[in-house]
Amino acid sequence: MDDVRCVLKNVWGYDSFRPLQEQSIETILAGRDSLTVLPTGAGKSICFQAPALCNNGSRSDGRHSDGRHSDGRHSDGPRDQGLAVVVSPLISLMKDQVDALREKRVPAALINSTQNETEKREVAERIRRGELRLLYLAPERLLSPKTLGFLRQQQCVRYFAIDEAHCVSQWGHDFRPEYQQLKTLKQVFPEASVHAFTATASQPVRRDIARQLGLCEPSFLIGNFDRPNLTYRMIRSRQKMQQIMEVVNRHRGQSGIVYCLSRREVDTTTQALRTLGLKAKPYHAGLTAPQRKANQDSFMQGRCDIVVATIAFGMGIDKANIRFVIHTGMPKSVEHYQQESGRAGRDGLDAECVLLHSPRDFLIWSDVMHGEAGQVARDSLQAMFELCNDVKCRHKAIVEYFGQDYGVMRCGACDVCLGELELHDQSSDIARTVVACVQELKQKYGAGHVARVLAGKSDKRIFQSNHDRLNSFGALGDHGPMAIKVWIQQLISQKYLRRSGSYKTLAPTESGRRLLRGQGTPKLTATGRSKKSADGSVS
Ligand code: ADP
Ligand code: ZN
Repeated sequence: MDDVRCVLKNVWGYDSFRPLQEQSIETILAGRDSLTVLPTGAGKSICFQAPALCNNGSRSDGRHSDGRHSDGRHSDGPRDQGLAVVVSPLISLMKDQVDALREKRVPAALINSTQNETEKREVAERIRRGELRLLYLAPERLLSPKTLGFLRQQQCVRYFAIDEAHCVSQWGHDFRPEYQQLKTLKQVFPEASVHAFTATASQPVRRDIARQLGLCEPSFLIGNFDRPNLTYRMIRSRQKMQQIMEVVNRHRGQSGIVYCLSRREVDTTTQALRTLGLKAKPYHAGLTAPQRKANQDSFMQGRCDIVVATIAFGMGIDKANIRFVIHTGMPKSVEHYQQESGRAGRDGLDAECVLLHSPRDFLIWSDVMHGEAGQVARDSLQAMFELCNDVKCRHKAIVEYFGQDYGVMRCGACDVCLGELELHDQSSDIARTVVACVQELKQKYGAGHVARVLAGKSDKRIFQSNHDRLNSFGALGDHGPMAIKVWIQQLISQKYLRRSGSYKTLAPTESGRRLLRGQGTPKLTATGRSKKSADGSVS
């Protein structure tokens, strides 16, 4: 690895590796397929860039000359170093990376649709001469018969790096059909290794990525997803503007992002912030490209403090000193939340992430997903709902979602551990009422039905099964079914209830039965809203 350390120092000026970078680079040098999962900002690019500038470890034939000057520049690049092909979904991302590499005098290039024939031919020429170390391409360009044929004929590809590899999985949150064809790479280039990189992949998605790409006995390198310098707060939305201002006021003059779920909300929120004298700019797909670019530049260069954006904003954003990220609604997956909130505090200093949510966000997403979304998308939405609503350390919940253990007892950096969460003063009574209802329904029904019975909804299904005659019917009639569903969720995560079977029917656990005898201290959140405004529209 001495070679890589030199490259890291000479090309990037860094003295040491960040977690997993060295291991990730080793798998590439050894020519073993791999999947590296590291959070955004952890430094994935160097993992696939640096090996392109080193000798191939698997060809350790004692030759030392690698044609590099001691300052890391390359001379006439010996062919046996080969070419690293990087697949990336966004032209802007590729361009940023290639520009940055060229500044470091690394022979890198990209081929994309915006180039003319001369430019493309020039890149091909450099590949032919064996000069190029890194080539960036969008998947559809790489997989065109012409490109594949050319690279095949040149016999120069040492490895492929697939950036944003979750795009290959239909189960992921950003599926791109053109990524699925990448599995032909292992067939067309059996001698080249394939290395997948992503910031966001739960365990099933990880396995799916490896399968979809046809990785051969891959090594899985999974980074740590905890961001200890971020303080998470997940708050029920009430008066959103007022709640946003509370956060903004804690960070006057500092950089922040406000994520909204719709363009319209972006526009109204930007306007409201401006009226209050704040330097805010909107960012969403409805703006023209030059407008978007101008607003992004203004934020990057510190001329405006706040960007109000849809999730269109952020891919590739590398601004280190973002001090707060606010979500005005619940994102559709924990992956999205981790990535978007993760743009705060990249410099390692404290930053705050506030998520304003309402059970209604869940319904909106469910509607959007209706029909077309797969089970994984729905599970991920459910996990996001649980993350917002459970009375459980947010750091722990996020880290565990990504399949890791979280050893810390009290993180000291989330609303739950800081004791800020508003709990219902009648938690035990409500909990007992809910558990009693589950028992009365003989454990044959799911959360939705239980909630409607407790809320006293007189719908067809309830009439047909005579559930309007149960003792529990309307027992929590002051609350809407969505609020009750949130409590049911909290009782599940606190293990007073459990879900079972494919119908997800509810049943009391042993602790649940003890609760009916007056034991246990369940913690339910205060809903803080009257029945009408919060849940009136839901039945
Ligand atoms: P990712 O692709 O995982 O989101 P990047 O590759 O964009 O992250 O890296 C994020 C930032 O961290 C970049 O500015 C990069 O130069 C820097 N970085 C990467 N590796 C190191 C390192 N070993 N030491 C210091 N800084 C690093
Ligand atoms: Zn915590």
